Amino acid sequence: MHEMSYVVKIIDTAGRSAKENGITDVKEVAVQVGEMTGALPEYLEMYFKEAAKDTVLKNARLVITQVPVLAECDSCKTLYHPGKDNDYRCPECKSIAGRIVQGKDITVNTIKG
Ligand SMILES: [Zn+2]
Repeated sequence: MHEMSYVVKIIDTAGRSAKENGITDVKEVAVQVGEMTGALPEYLEMYFKEAAKDTVLKNARLVITQVPVLAECDSCKTLYHPGKDNDYRCPECKSIAGRIVQGKDITVNTIKG
């Protein structure tokens, strides 16, 4: 059910962007959905339709691109996909210290009027 909070953010961001660009009838909203959010595309679409009803986004189609999680190792700067297969460690130097550089959020990429 936490998809709803992401949808609120998407509508807020896309709505503001539409205003800034003078778009009164948005046709398409492209978003990147990070793997770590756990947000399911079908729920995002469902809530989006519902929440966009009385906004400039009411005719907009939500275009979702799913983005995998990527971590950057603190020691050797290797980029890797942390998971059970590598025990969430860097595959090069086995360091556990790394930071997530992609895939932990939902971002609005583009809107089309
Ligand atoms: Zn490393």
